[in-house]
Amino acid sequence: MIPLQSHPSGRHFLQIPGPSNVPDRILRAIDNVTIDHRGPEFGELGKAVLAGMKKIFKTESHVVIYPASGTGAWEAALVNTLSPGDHVLMAETGHFATLWKRMAERLGLHVQFMEGDWRHGVDPAAVTAVLRADTGHRFKALCVVHNETATGVVTDVHAVRKAIDACGHPALLMVDTISSLGSVDYRHDEWGVDVTVSGSQKGLMLPPGLSFNAISAKALQASETATLRRAYWDWHDMLAINPRGYFPYTPATNLLYGLHEALEMLFEEGLDNVFARHKRLAAATRAAVQAWGLDILCSDPAQYSPVLTAVVMPQGHGADAFRATVLQHFNMSLGQGLSKLSDRVFRIGHLGYFNELSLCGTLAGIEMGLSLAGVPHRQGGVQAAMTMLADTAHSSQEGQSGSDDVKRRA
Ligand SMILES: *Cc1c(COP(=O)(O)O)cnc(C)c1O
Repeated sequence: MIPLQSHPSGRHFLQIPGPSNVPDRILRAIDNVTIDHRGPEFGELGKAVLAGMKKIFKTESHVVIYPASGTGAWEAALVNTLSPGDHVLMAETGHFATLWKRMAERLGLHVQFMEGDWRHGVDPAAVTAVLRADTGHRFKALCVVHNETATGVVTDVHAVRKAIDACGHPALLMVDTISSLGSVDYRHDEWGVDVTVSGSQKGLMLPPGLSFNAISAKALQASETATLRRAYWDWHDMLAINPRGYFPYTPATNLLYGLHEALEMLFEEGLDNVFARHKRLAAATRAAVQAWGLDILCSDPAQYSPVLTAVVMPQGHGADAFRATVLQHFNMSLGQGLSKLSDRVFRIGHLGYFNELSLCGTLAGIEMGLSLAGVPHRQGGVQAAMTMLADTAHSSQEGQSGSDDVKRRA
């Protein structure tokens, strides 16, 4: 077997912003015999996970589940709704928005990319300006990333919707929630989103390998006339058979066992409690970063991510050497800086199956790592986080996260 950890003892801290830590409860659910995906038992599982995912997306409309990483669900959103040569408006929030844009171009779409500085979310006023000028309704879709995982910045999707409506523009709104779904409040129907894209390995606490599209009636209608080539990703094959709980090809059965368990965990804790927990742990993380005297990449406090915090390294100090020190000495993985942020930032994932003490361990590893790597900083970050967590303990429900294993054993 390939050695998965260089440290002989204790748990590896996987504090990258996805894949996130998979709870034992989910691992045990996945560890079951693979059943006949055309048999009666599977139909019940299929129906249950599809219904559960609608609650997570907050939609009454359609959800499809692909055995694919998030990138597959990006492609599905585009090829089901658009035609070769269509014009699409996208916003440069960071690395992931840029990858989605490149995919759109490879598929033969014309993308206008609203420039960004990788420290802010999408500016609704900029959307209004572009769409107001588009009197001929050339743009068929606007695609945005809800939580830009490269930067730790959240875009106000509802505000983007209002910006589109303010100019009465018919463009479809497509949103990537791969790193926000199950961690940050999200409302597919209420916010008038046409296609929401998501993935399994971040807020949903599963291993990589599943991805999702939530589809509005308007998007489904667009798919009737869209002519981009599609086969594997075609919504219609899925939607024809999904109501009975089945899939047009072999589904990722064991990951669906895990998804069923993940949905139970999220509903047991309560979605609002899950979102509040993420916000509180994110605020404590930022308290530590500020105490260290380091900069947070996100420039607008209203857009701080509940999922991850990207920390800017002081001039002359590389993030990758620092991360290597932390991995070597404390068996913790931190997220690397992506593309133009390479070696400039490290990212702290604080999402999914995560609680106060996991956060304190994470921050302790970082603070010790800063000292060992000779990165200039002030001490006291962990203390600042602890103070905030103790001060706000009354506002969080008792033992809501991380209690599941105890509950199960009892
Ligand atoms: C992780 C991520 C992706 C890529 O998903 P894969 O599962 O790696 O294909 C896309 N967008 C965002 C916002 C992400 O966080």
